[in-house]
Amino acid sequence: MPRFSGKTVIITGSSNGIGRSAALLFAQDGANVTITGRNSERLVETRQLLLKSGISENNVNLVVADVTTSEGQDELIKTTLNKFGGIDILVNNAGAAITDPNRVTGTDQSIETYHKTMQTNFQSVIQMTQKAKPHLIASKGEIVNVSSIVAGPQAQPMSIYYGIAKAALNQYTRSSAIDLIQHGVRVNSVSPGLVSTGFVGAMGMTSDMSNKFYGFHASHKECIPAGVIGQPEDIANIILFLADRKLSSYIVGRTIVADGGSTLVMGMQAHNIASILSS
Ligand code: NDP
Repeated sequence: MPRFSGKTVIITGSSNGIGRSAALLFAQDGANVTITGRNSERLVETRQLLLKSGISENNVNLVVADVTTSEGQDELIKTTLNKFGGIDILVNNAGAAITDPNRVTGTDQSIETYHKTMQTNFQSVIQMTQKAKPHLIASKGEIVNVSSIVAGPQAQPMSIYYGIAKAALNQYTRSSAIDLIQHGVRVNSVSPGLVSTGFVGAMGMTSDMSNKFYGFHASHKECIPAGVIGQPEDIANIILFLADRKLSSYIVGRTIVADGGSTLVMGMQAHNIASILSS
């Protein structure tokens, strides 16, 4: 029997990238899935991908919604309960590095950008957790949050607020995990490094710029020691692992880092000092 047979999963941000991949893997492994995002065209593409892989329409609930709005969050919960009768797994994956309207970075980014960034990457997770909580307690369910290596401890000067939001999310993962485990609900998270998705496009990069961006990082070992950009499935597989109580039941409130080694490298260690000294 598929391992998520009879389980219902809400995956926020499943109109693209990591969330889309997670939706496909969950559905292929037997789950009912609620897929969601603001962009209806891309969301329909996700549904098509699922249906083409043999998933029945009966197992897919499509909701076009902005996860930062109370109405959008309520719609996700309500339609999931109406269609599937419960919630077993909540994947808080929707996120973005919001670009400042004035195209500035660092400490010049506006307070509006700060609020939007926090609402998208952090506040929506708090609100979805609160709204799903009674249903997850009833099912003894799981929450998987999608964080990022930008949470630190390294600095993140280009997208200061995005880094702050993910750092807050990591602390929320730890604290909500301890609060909810007493009710039998597990909370964990995954922290990806660079992954090839719609993420940098959403920041305004053209596909040429995206290719340059990924190519540069993959070819510099001080950026990604593994020498490759992550793929959505690399992260989606970890999401499924953390949502699978048979495999990960003793992991509570933790973040699994999947970054090709990026965060292990300090600038000083990135170069071959022996060859520099002997030259
Ligand atoms: P994508 O841009 O491909 O996907 C982001 C998803 O989030 C989309 O489905 C988008 O849907 C959704 N989303 C964003 N804002 C909202 C909103 N206000 N309401 C509803 N949905 C929203 O990027 P990724 O797949 O890479 O991003 C997934 C997660 O992974 C994010 O939390 C991101 O921070 C994290 N991450 C990504 C990394 C990377 O290198 N790609 C690295 C580290 C972490 P729509 O546009 O339709 O609203």
